[in-house]
Amino acid sequence: MSLYLPFFNLQNYNTLASPVVAQFFVSVKTETELLDAIQFAREQQLPLLVLGGGSNVVLRDDFPGLALHIHLLGKKLVSEDENFFYVKAAAGENWHEFVQYCLDYHYWGLENLSLIPGSVGAAPIQNIGAYGVELQDVFSELTAIDVQSGLSVTFTKDSCQFNYRDSVFKDALKDKYIITSVTFQLHKKEELKLQYPALQNSLAQYSPIEISPTLVSDVVCEIRRRKLPDPQKIPNVGSFFKNPVISEIKLLSLQQLYPTIVFYPLANRQVKLAAGWLIDCAGWKGYSDGGVAVHSEQALVLTNPNKRKGDVILALAQKIEESVFNLFGVHLELEPRVYP
Ligand code: FAD
Ligand code: NAP
Repeated sequence: MSLYLPFFNLQNYNTLASPVVAQFFVSVKTETELLDAIQFAREQQLPLLVLGGGSNVVLRDDFPGLALHIHLLGKKLVSEDENFFYVKAAAGENWHEFVQYCLDYHYWGLENLSLIPGSVGAAPIQNIGAYGVELQDVFSELTAIDVQSGLSVTFTKDSCQFNYRDSVFKDALKDKYIITSVTFQLHKKEELKLQYPALQNSLAQYSPIEISPTLVSDVVCEIRRRKLPDPQKIPNVGSFFKNPVISEIKLLSLQQLYPTIVFYPLANRQVKLAAGWLIDCAGWKGYSDGGVAVHSEQALVLTNPNKRKGDVILALAQKIEESVFNLFGVHLELEPRVYP
């Protein structure tokens, strides 16, 4: 039987540490408790705020609904074939602990995604990615509860419609499903992905024979600890904006004005711009005002040292968006989800 706690401060449930109050809060450990919580919200006509680790949400202000913390636990090998292990993890498992578990059992493929905060269940929502690997590269299937019917549904890779930091759960099926487990297809043989420049630089000191998935994971953790603020110490949600995608033609005109603009070619004559570079170039790196700041190592990360509510951070984000648009004519899109 779950406890529905009224007037619950969510400060410890979001990595921006915003002190907003939810009308009700519940943490569910089983699918039965999850179904009860959905029923409770329906009966009380409360909107739902589904939370894993709270590392990709901006809580603008108090939430007039039920904050539903997913704490479903468990992970196991479910099957294998000639080339792959199929490993299933419940949605509430901590992502990095799951990566470490897979490394311990020699289920390869998650090493580049080490140390990303948050839960397994949130990983498909934005198709998490880092250092040249995305969740979709190792994804097999997921199960989710349909919020309307309460039925459990299986989603294949195709039905998730993964894209760059995107999936069907952010678009057409937004708020329609609660993910309960994810199954990963992990390599039996080491398949290292080392093309990402920062990774290559750090691995240059090792001989090829020394480079293993565990070493790659260690190196990724080391780079991340050096470059990114630890949310436990300096509240943040990682990248605040997505890297914008523009046409090659638009890039050519920008290059006339900004010859050093950082970009990466994509398919269909499009390019991805490094949003951090745009924000830095607009003069925001290291800026601080009203208790919120732009990180001095990576301008894409906004920090909340004074633990303000999300509205204050969003006000800074809006100023940054406007100045980047005025300089480059490029729209920055928020990466984290804003509530309410
Ligand atoms: P939450 O913030 O709790 O939720 C995010 C969204 O998913 C919300 O809309 C929520 O309602 C929904 N959601 C959560 N769980 C479920 C579920 N079980 N079913 C349905 N909906 C659900 N992201 C990257 O992609 N790559 C990175 O390298 C990366 N680095 C980061 C570094 C730092 C320091 C920080 C703070 C964040 C970083 N992130 C990165 C962003 C974030 O860690 C990921 O998006 C992560 O997957 C969010 O997990 P979470 O459990 O904290 O999600
Ligand atoms: P970085 O190495 O300084 O690179 C800056 C940006 O350039 C990144 O956003 C990255 O895009 C892009 N990039 C670099 N090399 C690339 C290549 N060879 N091909 C395509 N794109 C390339 O980035 P960082 O801030 O230190 O982050 C390192 C990795 O961790 C990145 O993959 C980043 O996405 C991830 N990360 C994500 C978050 C988040 O909250 N989403 C937070 C921290 C770190 P990509 O972002 O597409 O990789």
